[in-house]
Amino acid sequence: MNVHTPADKLAKTESGPEKPSRAEAEAAIRTLLLWAGEDPEREGLKDTPARVARAYEEFFKGYAEDPVALLTRTFEEIEGYDEMVVLRDIRIESHCEHHMVPIIGRAHVAYLPGTRVVGISKLARVVDAYARRFQIQEKLTAQIANTIQDVLQPRGVAVVIEANHQCMSTRGVHKPGASMVTSRMLGAFRDDPSTRKEFLAIISPRNCGPVEA
Ligand SMILES: [Zn+2]
Repeated sequence: MNVHTPADKLAKTESGPEKPSRAEAEAAIRTLLLWAGEDPEREGLKDTPARVARAYEEFFKGYAEDPVALLTRTFEEIEGYDEMVVLRDIRIESHCEHHMVPIIGRAHVAYLPGTRVVGISKLARVVDAYARRFQIQEKLTAQIANTIQDVLQPRGVAVVIEANHQCMSTRGVHKPGASMVTSRMLGAFRDDPSTRKEFLAIISPRNCGPVEA
């Protein structure tokens, strides 16, 4: 498909295309309203482009966050604690990069500490920093696991994500009940069956609630 979008005209910088202005973003939303068959000037829609632009700042604030920096403050006084640390049921709000519609689900993140641990809220913030971008679930899962492994250097990391994709529930095949499960296991979670089994038991559906749509 050979379509010319405003993005084609954007100058490339070292980190990718230059960010358009807010006015340009709002004009693009107005175009989509027109294309859907609407009159963007009618009362109810007049402020919609501005609202959508603000919503995008929230949905995609992960681009402004540095997941590596979130994990650099660690604690070493752990009294020899060397068991698994698991944070389960972390709400995921992401957007499918193929259709730009929500992916809603939850993540379970675990690691086996080496000599240091990280504040537990930092794990949730790393999940958010990657989720609040355009994503596919496989990449999201790998990015979270790889970053924790690289920065914290624990004996192992496990990440499981279960999510509903609105591109599958509200369009295309229309399968609202289907959830997708992805996992990435590193270190002991990959090599040691008993470690993996312990983690999977902790996050089993028996111990967690249903995935919200
Ligand atoms: Zn999609």
